Amino acid sequence: MSDLRPAQAYLALGGNVGDSRAILARAVALLCDGDMVKLIARSSDYRTPPWGVEDQPPFINLCIAIETSLDPRDLLARAQDVERQLGRDRAKEKRWGPRTADIDIVAYNDVRLRTPDLTLPHPRLFERAFVLVPLAEMAPNLVVAGRRISEAVAKIDADDIERLTPLA
Ligand code: ATP
Ligand code: CA
Ligand code: CA
Repeated sequence: MSDLRPAQAYLALGGNVGDSRAILARAVALLCDGDMVKLIARSSDYRTPPWGVEDQPPFINLCIAIETSLDPRDLLARAQDVERQLGRDRAKEKRWGPRTADIDIVAYNDVRLRTPDLTLPHPRLFERAFVLVPLAEMAPNLVVAGRRISEAVAKIDADDIERLTPLA
């Protein structure tokens, strides 16, 4: 029999085109309808230096914890649908370049997966202060791929990651 309990998943959101804090707040609302995807926790917003391609404006990043009845592939499809609704067009982008909204699945239960379209946990998590810092705010005791997030964040340079005060 299939497991009908909802899965626990952690998502990382980011963007640097347009009013990123408002766009990402909208992304969370669109994603978490309370039915198939339920919002459990949300980090603060952070202003972060661009990663990978440095010649672009700073990003806003945040993480959320969800419970979902969607399987990993359907969750990714839903996240990409929200990206599109918020104006993202991958065909016009360069890798790690400017974008309105990027939604990555950081981890989904203890699932380990490596397919052309989906790798779980996210393969670059432990290189990225802009994901580890908001994730550690929300879920310091989470263990991903055998590593505790509070310990991973302590080992990374997070000097340029700025926590923002909540929007009114
Ligand atoms: P990065 O994956 O390094 O953060 P990116 O987010 O800029 O890069 P995108 O262009 O948004 O890259 O996505 C490229 C592809 O990555 C997506 O089409 C998706 O199929 C794939 N992908 C693989 N694993 C994941 C994951 N865990 N979460 C989101 N997308 C993933
Ligand atoms: Ca990404
Ligand atoms: Ca992505």
